[in-house]
Amino acid sequence: MCMLKIEDYIRDIPDFPKPGILFRDITPLLESSEATETCVQQLLAMIEGQKIDKVVAIESRGFFFGILLAQALKVGFVPIRKPGKLPYKSFKEPYNLEYGMDALEIHEDAITEGERVLVHDDVLATGGTARAACNLVEKLGGKVVQCNFLIELKSLKGIQKLKNQEVRTLLKY
Ligand code: 5GP
Repeated sequence: MCMLKIEDYIRDIPDFPKPGILFRDITPLLESSEATETCVQQLLAMIEGQKIDKVVAIESRGFFFGILLAQALKVGFVPIRKPGKLPYKSFKEPYNLEYGMDALEIHEDAITEGERVLVHDDVLATGGTARAACNLVEKLGGKVVQCNFLIELKSLKGIQKLKNQEVRTLLKY
């Protein structure tokens, strides 16, 4: 049995990126191949038995485990990015930040009607990012089978924005 604990590889950074924010830093996890492998296995266990056609992950920290999950599942990987980063024709979905708005984009041919999609990101905070990602997948005709995250920041109640989704998380703070 694996004794490695993923939480031991998450570093707390106070006042980043702004005063008052406690940032959960996943770079120590990425620096350990053993912890990364354990993490991938645990994320895969959360979707065991589900048919997945594509893994969609959100810029930029979602890409780290998103691509590893896609490779392990032997399915394609689709990046969702900030506006202006994707080279081909894209759909855009605006979403609310604590102060102001942002948007995410996906290539308009990235998902085929009816494809079963796993949406992955590193952290679920207020949920705006993940909601926008799910909306983009659905706009292309995909079905979001599960949203999975390494970390859920429970006090920010992001889960409420994903009420109609199956949500799974490795660690809750
Ligand atoms: P939300 O839209 O849920 O408020 O924010 C989620 C997005 O912000 C994710 O893409 C995630 O990468 C980033 N994020 C917010 N807080 C943290 C944090 O404490 N640690 C990390 N690694 N990412 C965070």
